Amino acid sequence: MELLDTLQRPLRDLRISVTDRCNFRCTYCMPRAVFGPGYQFLNRTEILSYEEITRLSRIFIERGVEKLRITGGEPLVRKDLHTLIAQLHEIPGLKDLTLTTNGSLLRGQAQKLKDAGLQRVTVSLDSLDDAVFQSMNDAAVPVATVLDGIQAAREAGLAPIKVNAVVKRGVNDHTIADLARHFRGSGVIVRFIEFMDVGATNGWKLDNVVTAREIVETIGRELPLEPAEANYRGEVAKRWRYADGSGEIGVIASISQPFCGDCTRARLSPEGELYTCLFSNHGHDFRSLLRNGASDAEISAFLDSVWRVRTDRYSELRTEATAALPKVEMSHIGG
Ligand code: SAM
Repeated sequence: MELLDTLQRPLRDLRISVTDRCNFRCTYCMPRAVFGPGYQFLNRTEILSYEEITRLSRIFIERGVEKLRITGGEPLVRKDLHTLIAQLHEIPGLKDLTLTTNGSLLRGQAQKLKDAGLQRVTVSLDSLDDAVFQSMNDAAVPVATVLDGIQAAREAGLAPIKVNAVVKRGVNDHTIADLARHFRGSGVIVRFIEFMDVGATNGWKLDNVVTAREIVETIGRELPLEPAEANYRGEVAKRWRYADGSGEIGVIASISQPFCGDCTRARLSPEGELYTCLFSNHGHDFRSLLRNGASDAEISAFLDSVWRVRTDRYSELRTEATAALPKVEMSHIGG
């Protein structure tokens, strides 16, 4: 029987955060003042092993999941990630296996990941202006390193490649047209993301949000755009194509045009907690089941009990007041 929540939404996508660690300190995600040398990251025994992740993924796929996205933290800082990819790739019924990364370690791993069965990648890159980018990643990583990672993904055949850029007013909004222009005609799809009130450490304010409409207008002034149809129901990004046929961009309007009604996503944290919304403040503990000898049927039944009562639609209910509520950090569950 199909697994549906209270709003009749099926479970189709599972995002798996494989680590809470990252080699960047993006100011809007893992500000150094909070995630500095004294910060207590999870230790190895707390995080799920690759075998545990694979077992859960298999059970989730039996219950309707079709797409797995590996994320973090920065997933490529976890040792031998390609061995996890190889295990996941073997699961019957999986239709799409992808990864979100900051791209800085992609040159060394792209081919291994592709050989293991990874289909495609999304690379985060907020600006092509080095000063702007480095002020955002706060880890002295230059744009050239990420562009080289994207090139490595292209050479390995990890296609189609998407680039995610978070847009923050007064920080990188003056560079978005450059980013669009750079990738236009290359087959790489840039997706501009409205700055979101995830977590509790990024000092989010509505004033910082550049809306999807503004983003499209800004780019459209230089590079005329027209709306394109969604590829499938529930697609996160709204598509816009260049009027001259040279490709497309996407905008992810979580703040100005929430898309909770079509949300078929669940998120698994590194320590095995399942979050049914990006803006939740608590997860459901699957690690205890895994480590206390639960059978596959028992784990599947627990998933049922979590998903069938799901009511989440945070983005549709968001106000300045809800933005201050406690929520899981983006760097913990990976976006
Ligand atoms: N380290 C990987 C990366 O950089 O893509 C994966 C994890 S990262 C948390 C996933 C995505 O979330 C990135 O594209 C990042 O820019 C985005 N992100 C983080 N904080 C955000 C926020 N407050 N609003 C919108 N997007 C955010």
